[in-house]
Amino acid sequence: MSAVHDPHRGPVCLSIVVPVFDEEEALPVLAARLRPVLDGCEEPYEVLAVDDGSTDKTPRLLEDLRNVWPQLRIVTLRRNSGHQAALTAGLHRARGAYVISMDADLQDPPEVIPDMLALARADGLDVVYGIRMDRSTDSGFKRRTAAAYYWLMRRLAGSYVPAQAGDFRLLSRPVVETLKTLPEQQQIYRLLIPWLGFPGGQITYQRGERVAGTTKYPLHKMILLALDSVTSFSAVPLRLATALGAFSLVVCLAFLTWTLVVHATGNTLPGWTSLIITVLFFGAVQLFCVGMLGEYVARIYTAVQARPTYFVARDTDEEQR
Ligand code: UDP
Ligand code: MG
Repeated sequence: MSAVHDPHRGPVCLSIVVPVFDEEEALPVLAARLRPVLDGCEEPYEVLAVDDGSTDKTPRLLEDLRNVWPQLRIVTLRRNSGHQAALTAGLHRARGAYVISMDADLQDPPEVIPDMLALARADGLDVVYGIRMDRSTDSGFKRRTAAAYYWLMRRLAGSYVPAQAGDFRLLSRPVVETLKTLPEQQQIYRLLIPWLGFPGGQITYQRGERVAGTTKYPLHKMILLALDSVTSFSAVPLRLATALGAFSLVVCLAFLTWTLVVHATGNTLPGWTSLIITVLFFGAVQLFCVGMLGEYVARIYTAVQARPTYFVARDTDEEQR
């Protein structure tokens, strides 16, 4: 595949997109490990660091790094917009014929990058997924929730979603261009990309430990990602409401029959427990269904507003022109 040519800066064969949010501890280690690998590829490349509204020393560190590493390009978002939005910003602006996204904390080893590129070229693939073979360095909680997530997503979104494929992957230019044409605002790439159906391959790797700093994915962000994933790919929860309704109807009819029988036998006074149970049960079922409906309505609302998921304050590439 030919490299994308930019008359101002020359062709770029490979873009590495790295969302960065408060990664002052990890950045120097990242640069030290990533640069030798990329220089060794002997292809024109750019490293697109998307600063997702960092409030620590990250912006200054990126600036210092850029002074000694000309291929480093900094895209600064106006505020913290979240990992997926930062990825979107990077993908939209990357110029490479191939684009690889990876985390800043080196849990995705840069050493795998040449293998991904070689596999894509050798087999003519448009997507190469990084599959986490061994997650023993992640916490037990993270591993269990991840396993549940992939199990659920494969059942709801389809078995074409590779298990244990995070956001470390290679995309060809046609895939990136296709993603750009999709009208969805909140794109969940790990589900959307397999769904596109481009020929894909896999590279397995050992998931490393975060080299420095702390996770930027607290529990509430994980839950939100799971909710976004489910609602953007499946209407099953809505159908679940129908199923629950049907089930409640059967229970209702059984109760009705029983009530009539008790009434006929004239033994109607005690019944407080069953009454409370019934009220609570149907109250809970109804609230649950309304809540589920609300999740979808909220996403329709966001989609109708069609606000961009990120705003770029600065792109060092544009300054040079
Ligand atoms: N990240 C980001 N914006 C956020 C949260 C995270 O750009 O709001 C970046 C973060 O800097 C890192 C990547 O997303 O490069 C993955 O985050 P992290 O490693 O904290 O997630 P975990 O590996 O714990 O799931
Ligand atoms: Mg991480």
